[in-house]
Amino acid sequence: MMKISPDLLKIGIEFHGHKCPAMPLGMRAGLAALKKLGVERASNKELYCYCETGPSHATACFVDGLQVSTGCTFGKGNIEKLNLGKTAFTLVDIKNKKAVRVSLNPEFQAKSLSSEFVNQRKKGVEPKDIKPEIVDPAVEKITTIEDSDILKIEEVKNFEFKPKKGTFDWERCSKCNEIVFVTGLRVVDGKHYCIPCSELV
Ligand SMILES: [Zn+2]
Ligand SMILES: [Zn+2]
Repeated sequence: MMKISPDLLKIGIEFHGHKCPAMPLGMRAGLAALKKLGVERASNKELYCYCETGPSHATACFVDGLQVSTGCTFGKGNIEKLNLGKTAFTLVDIKNKKAVRVSLNPEFQAKSLSSEFVNQRKKGVEPKDIKPEIVDPAVEKITTIEDSDILKIEEVKNFEFKPKKGTFDWERCSKCNEIVFVTGLRVVDGKHYCIPCSELV
């Protein structure tokens, strides 16, 4: 049985750009975290996600599925990458002060990393060029397998969430004239600059 609604899967594939197993895996992991927290997908910033993936490695497509299923997106700024090289994340329910960490079952991940899909990727074949007879069963497996076979879900006790407040304050760069929010503003000799211009003065 499909564990992801076909509509959500379709949105995920359209957003992500190609069919691969890691994107729906991120969806599954995100959905499992929502279920464990007993919350809905974030429409605003009700949830915050600390993602342990990055900077660049196999399975990184996971984060796109995670964004689609949890509503924690880089645009809204309620997700950040910790660049720990791990396919795991902590999802925080801000209002109820609850958090869960979801990681992949290491045996499952090790097996996936020696799959034909990953072999093709190692050879430099782009995901969209991998044959459907390799991609489709891999995606099918991820969308139907039991959570307990692929995920480890733990409640994080006393998680300390430090919210970052978004700014509406800005200045104009004295050199390029572009608008810079104060989080990226540099002051040189009393003048405002964006970071790239500040390195040229
Ligand atoms: Zn992908
Ligand atoms: Zn500038």
